[in-house]
Amino acid sequence: MKLQEIKNIDISGKKVFIRCDFNVPVDEYQNITDDRRIKSALNTIRYCIDNDCAIIIASHFGRPKNGYEEKYSLKPVAKRLHTLLKTDIKLAPNVICDETIQMAKELACGEIMLLENMRFEPGETKNDPELSQTLASLADIYINDAFGVSHRAHASVEGVAQHFDAEHKAAGFLLASEIKFFYHIIENPKRPFVSIVGGSKVSGKLEALHNLITKVDKIIIGGGMAFTFLKAMGYDVGKSLVEDELIPDALNIMEKAKSLGVKLYLPVDVIAAETFDAEAFAKPTTVQEIPKGWMGLDIGPASATLFAQALEDAHTILWNGPMGVYEMDKFAKGSFKISHAVANSYATTVVGGGDTADLVRRTGDEEEMTFISTGGGASLELIEGKILPGVKALIIEE
Ligand code: AMP
Repeated sequence: MKLQEIKNIDISGKKVFIRCDFNVPVDEYQNITDDRRIKSALNTIRYCIDNDCAIIIASHFGRPKNGYEEKYSLKPVAKRLHTLLKTDIKLAPNVICDETIQMAKELACGEIMLLENMRFEPGETKNDPELSQTLASLADIYINDAFGVSHRAHASVEGVAQHFDAEHKAAGFLLASEIKFFYHIIENPKRPFVSIVGGSKVSGKLEALHNLITKVDKIIIGGGMAFTFLKAMGYDVGKSLVEDELIPDALNIMEKAKSLGVKLYLPVDVIAAETFDAEAFAKPTTVQEIPKGWMGLDIGPASATLFAQALEDAHTILWNGPMGVYEMDKFAKGSFKISHAVANSYATTVVGGGDTADLVRRTGDEEEMTFISTGGGASLELIEGKILPGVKALIIEE
């Protein structure tokens, strides 16, 4: 799969519509608490500035229900963009109205205009053809740099792209690198390719597990989801998180791994606790000896050593999902140890999923990872082997 990329089309002096993902977290006073999503779009915006473009930027923000709501206005984003780019940002009064259309028409080269929250328009999430058409009419070029929302067929993500030919639409730098690291690494990895999958439940990552098992050399399963596998193997896992209805799937995945020669690793010990509580009485125990009624909330020290050893010869590591309830200090050690092991490896290391990205920031290993994805749901869909609608519109070679 080859994507049309911004650097390969002529944007010089043109009016460019860039779909970004500025869905940033804010506190109760509307202060942005983490502006990483804005910062990761700057490469594309600066490239357009350097190419003398007139720039129209669109994004969604939160989940407004009925049109314009002050609480979901992109005002804080416009302010932060201004601070980061040190240039004036013209915030449109709404998404599409006469005034916005006029502003877009009059926008000169080097100027930046930000449309209001795309989700103020009910047609956005419905991929409304009329809205797509109007958005497209604002610009000469369409750039998608909103990886975090590219798994949604929305008007400003998918519909709008249909109105531009291959020379007038492309992926921005962020989207292109997300695809490079997720899609291409899964399809064409340097081997041994090891995937670490964790998090709470099997159900959330079932499709990802089924797809990964056919691609990897080794798979390491930790977190809450490991207990469905351990129960399927006949262990008594007490009150640990188990999805009984998925035991046949767990057996099927283990069977598939065996027949494909994929080495599948499960925890051999856990940190078991009496209750789901940061102050709970807890102790390490082998998976054979989890006390009756207790629950496993982290992998134990022997599992962390085992998993780290399995990672030693990896050339590619893909990690999605923590090894335990890392939000509570008592149950964070396993995830921390795996984070350090991944960071210290010589492999290409790709981290996906909001929790895992948060985790590697807490462990201080962020800089050591090759790539950390900005999109949770979108990266999971890539691991599931899906072609995202927002990406499909930009493919120039299958
Ligand atoms: P997910 O969204 O599926 O990636 O799951 C992430 C969540 O899984 C985190 O909030 C962890 O606290 C939780 N988690 C990880 N291990 C366990 C476990 N053994 N039991 C319960 N929850 C867990």
